[in-house]
Amino acid sequence: MITKFIKRILRRDPMVKHTHASNTGAPKRIPKKSHRIDPHLLSKNAVKVTHTLQQAGYEAFIVGGAVRDLALGISPKDFDVATNATPDQVQRLFRKARLIGRRFQIVHVTFFGKGHPEIIEVSTFRALLDNAGDHVAESGRILRDNVWGSQGEDAARRDFTINAMYYDPSSETVLDYHGGMADMQKKTLRMIGDPAKRYREDPVRMLRAVRFAAKTGFELDSATRAPIAKLGKLLNDVPSARLFDEILKLLMSGYSWRAIQGLKEAGLHHGLLPLLDHILDDGEDSKGANDFVKLALANTDERIQSGKSVSAGFLFATLLWPDLLKNWKTNSSKGMANIPALHDAMDDTITTQSSGMTIQRRFESDMREIWSMQPRFERRVGRYPFRLIESPRFRAGYDFMLLRCATGELNPAIGQWWTDFIAADPAGQEELMASAKNESGNTASPAKRRRRRKPKSAIPPEGAGS
Ligand code: ATP
Ligand code: MG
Repeated sequence: MITKFIKRILRRDPMVKHTHASNTGAPKRIPKKSHRIDPHLLSKNAVKVTHTLQQAGYEAFIVGGAVRDLALGISPKDFDVATNATPDQVQRLFRKARLIGRRFQIVHVTFFGKGHPEIIEVSTFRALLDNAGDHVAESGRILRDNVWGSQGEDAARRDFTINAMYYDPSSETVLDYHGGMADMQKKTLRMIGDPAKRYREDPVRMLRAVRFAAKTGFELDSATRAPIAKLGKLLNDVPSARLFDEILKLLMSGYSWRAIQGLKEAGLHHGLLPLLDHILDDGEDSKGANDFVKLALANTDERIQSGKSVSAGFLFATLLWPDLLKNWKTNSSKGMANIPALHDAMDDTITTQSSGMTIQRRFESDMREIWSMQPRFERRVGRYPFRLIESPRFRAGYDFMLLRCATGELNPAIGQWWTDFIAADPAGQEELMASAKNESGNTASPAKRRRRRKPKSAIPPEGAGS
């Protein structure tokens, strides 16, 4: 009887209930011919780190998202290493190693090469926590986790099966504790352990589920998906800064539109970004907003997928623009002058947003700059265009304006005018300004403007050109 039981455990028979405890057993060892990880995709520095640790007698593996990406055949954007050496022991082995974090110490090993320095994050295997004691808040959220453990425990506290594989570059073997490789083949994203419990421990895992599903194109396993509808509201308890980081990762995943659709399907968008509430409503009212945000996100995805950088300020400026336009329009209809109406609307938009998730200050100031530049693109005479070009964030403001042209919110001729203006020599610029002067619209000098009783609004009617 006992031998039968042991055999069953060793075979990891599916009859064995997958609790956390039973899952800390022996991993499946997957040889190169099955996982087919291309060693060329490995970071040389990550390999240096695992080798150095192994030479010193420790266990060391590449772990987490990097193994998932390697198994998918994509080049990981960063490499994490997990080891049984303690942070102090790790630090002693490398010249450029820094201890990071108070709650749970990890070591950043930095390598300086030709391009950017590369940081390999080395963490010591962490223990599982039981649900008792002061580690867990009333809702089940983990507050502290700073206990070292075995590799099996380290695997069990990770989120998804595909994120819990360990790759040893020396033997080219993958250690798989939770059937991650089988899930990869089935294109399934599956939470380790009891999904509801894992979401209660850390509600951010719900957002991670949506992000990884969008990024990999995998389906959420039904048991992994099911509790989200009910537990989504736990995201309200997550500190705003953490929420912001996770939403930023989601938007910068290169699959932001897909991820936002995923949030909607999971019922998670409410309250995160108030604007998402109405963009994702498919009503006629939100059509203009929808088009703008869709285009902005497609643009972001394309940039990220081709390895270009995207500024978070720009991204949030686009996401909140439909809301801002609405507020701006309301202010103007109350008789406020154009520019004060815009600034007042910016305050409103940001305040509303902060009730869901606060956008960090440094991004907020970028957003304000991009937004307040917009009416200035319509002044194309005198010194105005030159002053605008000299603004430190001109490029972002210009890109933003082009998006408005692309959806027809702003007359595309204005976008073209600026594109020509940037490229033109001084004589060409004079010509362009002369041509703008002859057009009617918002090119009037400020003196004339001030004399007008009711300034002409720069705000176009929704969905139409100005
Ligand atoms: P990315 O490619 O976006 O960096 P990643 O999987 O590497 O994806 P990270 O946030 O860098 O994600 O986390 C690294 C690893 O740490 C994950 O693969 C997972 O194993 C574990 N992990 C991270 N966050 C959590 C969490 N909230 N709960 C459980 N495990 C987590
Ligand atoms: Mg990572």
